[in-house]
Amino acid sequence: MSENCIFCKIANGEIPSATLYEDEDFRVILDLGPASKGHALILPKEHAANIFELPDDLAAKAIVLAKKIATTLKEGLHADGVNIVQNNGEVAGQTVFHFHMHIIPRYKGDTVNMGWKPGELTEEAKEEILGLFKNA
Ligand code: 5GP
Ligand code: ZN
Repeated sequence: MSENCIFCKIANGEIPSATLYEDEDFRVILDLGPASKGHALILPKEHAANIFELPDDLAAKAIVLAKKIATTLKEGLHADGVNIVQNNGEVAGQTVFHFHMHIIPRYKGDTVNMGWKPGELTEEAKEEILGLFKNA
């Protein structure tokens, strides 16, 4: 647990939260500033600032848990779709530096804004990026 980390305190029950699910590794809570009805956050109990610090076993468990939470929310709230979002770094929109996954139910006609303007894949960029994975 990291001192002065709000999500460490919430995940470990030091600060009360609207908890949807809890096991030995995770707590799932309702977001205090929901993008839509049912917006939930998956928090590991162990502190990791972002996905790069998250141990592989927790990363694997997190996506399975995300599927379970998304399924219950979608069915229970009659959502039309779900976004699963995970931000790393300030430039990527991360504001709380304890790894978390957003589960955001989506409803036809909702006003959730999560888009980007499609760019263009240049040959140069493509070759550079393919090169990164050649010996990976
Ligand atoms: P980020 O921008 O880091 O991906 O997401 C942080 C999220 O945490 C935001 O959606 C914000 O509303 C939520 N949040 C921030 N502080 C608290 C809190 O104290 N309790 C809860 N439940 N959610 C919080
Ligand atoms: Zn933390």
